[in-house]
Amino acid sequence: MTERIKPARVRFAPSPTGRTHLGSGRTALYNYLLARQTGGQFILRIEDTDQKRYVEGAEEELMQGLRWLGMEWDEGPDVGGEYGPYRQTERREIYAKYARQLVEQGYAYYCFCAAKEDDGEQEDLKGKRQQHRDVCLDRDVDLTEADQKVAGGTPHVIRFRMPSEGTITVTDAVRGDITVENSTLDDTILVRSDGLPVYHLAVVIDDHLMKITHAIRTSEWLPTFPLHGHIYAAFGWEEPMWIHPSIFLKPDGKGKMSKRDSEALMEAGIPIFLSDFGKFGYLPEAVVNWAALIGWSYDDKTEEFSMAELIEKFSIEKLSPAPAALNFTKLDHFNGVYIRSLSVEDLAARLKPFFESAGYDVGNEEKLLRVVRVLQVRLGKLTEAPEMGGFFFEEDVSPAPESLIGKKMDAASSLEMARALEVLVGEFPDFSMDTMNQPLRDFAKEMGVKVGNVFGFLRDALTAQRVSPPIFETMEIIGREKVMERIAKGIDLLEKML
Ligand code: GLU
Repeated sequence: MTERIKPARVRFAPSPTGRTHLGSGRTALYNYLLARQTGGQFILRIEDTDQKRYVEGAEEELMQGLRWLGMEWDEGPDVGGEYGPYRQTERREIYAKYARQLVEQGYAYYCFCAAKEDDGEQEDLKGKRQQHRDVCLDRDVDLTEADQKVAGGTPHVIRFRMPSEGTITVTDAVRGDITVENSTLDDTILVRSDGLPVYHLAVVIDDHLMKITHAIRTSEWLPTFPLHGHIYAAFGWEEPMWIHPSIFLKPDGKGKMSKRDSEALMEAGIPIFLSDFGKFGYLPEAVVNWAALIGWSYDDKTEEFSMAELIEKFSIEKLSPAPAALNFTKLDHFNGVYIRSLSVEDLAARLKPFFESAGYDVGNEEKLLRVVRVLQVRLGKLTEAPEMGGFFFEEDVSPAPESLIGKKMDAASSLEMARALEVLVGEFPDFSMDTMNQPLRDFAKEMGVKVGNVFGFLRDALTAQRVSPPIFETMEIIGREKVMERIAKGIDLLEKML
């Protein structure tokens, strides 16, 4: 449990610039856990001031992703709240007022040269930092003169007036104090020529006005963290507690995940964007549990945590700064664990869409529940269900004729065995293990065939699959009529092979 028991006001502040990555899901999760643990608020703020990178539909996708994981926000663009608006492009006037305050107090200045270029964060960071600071001569222009130019319509940006001497110390709850020389920092652009602020200014103003107490955000912002400290100091505002969790590494642990790595994973059927996990057959419970442990741990043994347990046990103190390799095998493990922990009814409801999109009619609820009961112990991902259990819903199955031939047997001897088996199975009063197991073994002995070949024929003829749920349960679900039909079809196929 985090020491600060004061209700935390936290925010998840994504930019709608593309699909929502797992990393964002984890950032949101940590924020959410802290809010719920302390009885505070979880706020969704859309940081859309970079209009060039805006992607239509991204906002909807991310909202769906958060809700799929089980996180509802208390304040946000769609649900409103006391501190709105929660979409940054709707807060333009607020930023303008505070930017002007910085200019008037000498902490920022109008720059008339950068506006001619393609301004913005990208331009701003362009390799200049190491050699010399990115500053502008307009820094020394008198404000009255600059105001005239602005009033006259000269394109301009607003830059932070970075002190050229001294140091600044900012504190990250995970890494401790970070101190840098001001002389290594730029006069970063705070407001672009389109009048919209860049992230660095907007985040400070919004976090302050929205009374954010803890800011958990991606560690990609660590390099510009000192600038944020300067902006806070310029306004004279108290900073939230800053928390930058670990970065994600590729599954092999060799380096950061690039866009191309993500694409390669996707091609291999491994999801990396929030909205794909469900489609790929993962349960939100598993993703939440897995994601929480990428960079956080409770102790060195407990691994399984429901959302409720995470809310109880999460703590900032246990976040690790060490980069974490994405272990998808572990995700698969959690997925199996959660699949098995669901009630049969719940699992059936979740599997239904997968059967349906594979073209199976699973309208018979009672049958679906029986099928799900036998699949539950075997499923790794929901997507496997149609392949593993689709045959239960087929009118008819089509085994490959060769598969019906027993090991070290030929078509004739297999046929002889199958015919006798048909008679025996037809005589069983039911298909339970108790009824069938021993007689089938005795039958194999009498026929002089391996028991595996008896079961093998049944499995292939009934399911047309090499792997299937246990045969007795399978037969009970398929039902006598279809069992006999499928055995007869198997016999037919063997006859044709003679
Ligand atoms: N919009 C920023 C991003 O998507 C948010 C960072 C923050 O949480 O402050 O990286």
